Amino acid sequence: MDDAVRAKYLKAGQIASKVRGQAADMLQEGNLLLDVAEFAESEIIKLGGKPAFPVNLAIDTIAAHYTPHSEDPLTFQAGQIVKLDLGVHVDGYIADTALTVEISTNKWKSLIDASADSLTAVLDALRPGIMVRDLGAMIEQIIRSRGFEPISNLSGHSLEQFNLHAGISVPNVSDTSADDLKPGMAVAIEPFATNGVGRVAGRKSGNIYKLLRMKELPDPELNEIVHEVHAEFNCLPFPERWVAKRFDKSDKKLKKLLRQGIVATYPILSEVKGGMVSQMEHTIVMTSEGAIITTK
Ligand code: MN
Ligand code: MN
Repeated sequence: MDDAVRAKYLKAGQIASKVRGQAADMLQEGNLLLDVAEFAESEIIKLGGKPAFPVNLAIDTIAAHYTPHSEDPLTFQAGQIVKLDLGVHVDGYIADTALTVEISTNKWKSLIDASADSLTAVLDALRPGIMVRDLGAMIEQIIRSRGFEPISNLSGHSLEQFNLHAGISVPNVSDTSADDLKPGMAVAIEPFATNGVGRVAGRKSGNIYKLLRMKELPDPELNEIVHEVHAEFNCLPFPERWVAKRFDKSDKKLKKLLRQGIVATYPILSEVKGGMVSQMEHTIVMTSEGAIITTK
């Protein structure tokens, strides 16, 4: 990784860290999820970045992939645990970070600590050449020692320019992966803990889409949507909200693009036995001297 690329990863991380703090302050009873997501995405742009994916606000048993709809009436309620997950890119170089906040109560501190403390332990252990399976084993051991389960079918991931999941996974449980973290790699690490069984599954759409391919379409308005989405997001995920600001009947038009295989949607991922879920995430850049946490 050359210095110019590293500087872009670091800038993305600084923006992500600042906006994560500001948005976390808005996670309060009665506030609209929509306002938090829109605020965070506009702040990212103001600070010189772009959203690498729509701001995710995953409540209680939802682990990931929910972003508010353009007309979303949902507000935060006392007793909820909220995962705020946001991504920033600078010229395609991504910072991905998340935290968990409990709204108005203090019932889930040990669950939130389980994901936070396992991430801290992994970050402390990072060195060039470390095996990702050893990181997974560490996360599993710490979360289990607190009486919870790690989510086994969600994992951290390597990052490349305009690519959120670049091929290497960092598991949240011990596994047999032969991958290690080499100097020059950028990686997001994200332990999830639950009082459920430790697996997630997806059903209906969470208002997040991505462009699968560029194609000239006979319908001029659908064609315009595809070109604008490509210009703005490349093939990174985008929200229904962004389309709704520029075109009417956004849901209907996105469904048409879905049926034609031009876009894909991300299903909302929920814990399969209805367990509550906590998450903590940072992005690191590995160097020959050790790891730099870009989103600290
Ligand atoms: Mn994330
Ligand atoms: Mn991630």
